Amino acid sequence: MGAPYTGHPGSDGVNQRWAIPVRLLPDELFSSWLVRASLVQGCDPLILTNAVWPRWRVWARDPDRGLSPTRLQALTEVSGIDEAVFEAASLLPTAQTVTGGSVAEFAIWPWVLAIGSRNRRRHGGLQCCSACLANDVVPYYRRQWRFAWHTSCRKHGVMLIDRCPECGAPLEPHRLVAEDSHLAICATCKFDLRRFASSRTDASAEAFQVAASETLAMLEGRYGEECLDPSEWFGLARWFVGLLRVAALRRSAMLATLVRALGVPPETLPVPITGLALELLPVRERADLFAAAWRLMIAGPDELLAAALAAPVTAKSVRQLRKPLPACLDEIVCNLPEGASRRRAKCQTPFTRPRSRRAVMRMWARLRRKAGMPLPC
Ligand SMILES: [Zn+2]
Ligand SMILES: [Zn+2]
Repeated sequence: MGAPYTGHPGSDGVNQRWAIPVRLLPDELFSSWLVRASLVQGCDPLILTNAVWPRWRVWARDPDRGLSPTRLQALTEVSGIDEAVFEAASLLPTAQTVTGGSVAEFAIWPWVLAIGSRNRRRHGGLQCCSACLANDVVPYYRRQWRFAWHTSCRKHGVMLIDRCPECGAPLEPHRLVAEDSHLAICATCKFDLRRFASSRTDASAEAFQVAASETLAMLEGRYGEECLDPSEWFGLARWFVGLLRVAALRRSAMLATLVRALGVPPETLPVPITGLALELLPVRERADLFAAAWRLMIAGPDELLAAALAAPVTAKSVRQLRKPLPACLDEIVCNLPEGASRRRAKCQTPFTRPRSRRAVMRMWARLRRKAGMPLPC
């Protein structure tokens, strides 16, 4: 059984060795607190973390995934904050609930935005609401902004941002320096993120976000009349997202007919720029996918079966679409025609054949990401 998805309350009493006590704020992300604690003490985050953990390069990793007991103990000794508070501010409890077990086997934790670090530089992984930062007495990053299903701020009705609107760099508060004094500053160009007015939320993407958060809070989600545990619900959502990404590439008239019958015109689907994993996609691309996935999810199993029969979609093609097939779709697939067992020879593109413009653009986007360059919008 996983842990319910609730923001942690922050920390109360602090009995620390540091000159100035720094409490964890409600739902504050662990790394946000660590950077804030450094700036409050008047030093760069790198200086403070080198003092706490000599010979461990914390910023070359993702400290929000959780720390070892020894490293947590070292931090507790200097900060005066209980280890359990730091553990609650990490991403681990929610990640385990989403996957339904251990996340040790995953290089990229499912549904947790990946930072893609190279030394202290990152490709992404962090989002924020500029209006929340502007309203904060002390600006700080929320733990929920690290999860992939969060694409908007419900409080302010705006899209989250995952890059500096001024220079396009990823949000990297750990690269701030003491003179920056607060977290609402782009570490690359020093733009004050609080000055940016983000675009309005997409209603369907927000509905998906609410359903995902409620599934985690209640430890139960729904698909039609069926109750699903969180890992099943997120597995189903990912399956629908995968279906949409295939449909967006417009290679299957069958899938295009299916998604159109469920209320998603395939020509409106965002064509994947990079084909990267969900956890590496920019916020705009995720919001578009979740908005469409939500329409498929709320259609429910009866409409899905009717649309699949009308398309017609075969059981074989559904099983091959994305593995594993969510258990709650088994019955639907059993009711579909099986389809021909024609074996298609694996098509290998000869090196001499020119690639399509779309394939070149996807390769170019991947290269830009690897090189730490901003992706095209
Ligand atoms: Zn906000
Ligand atoms: Zn910037």
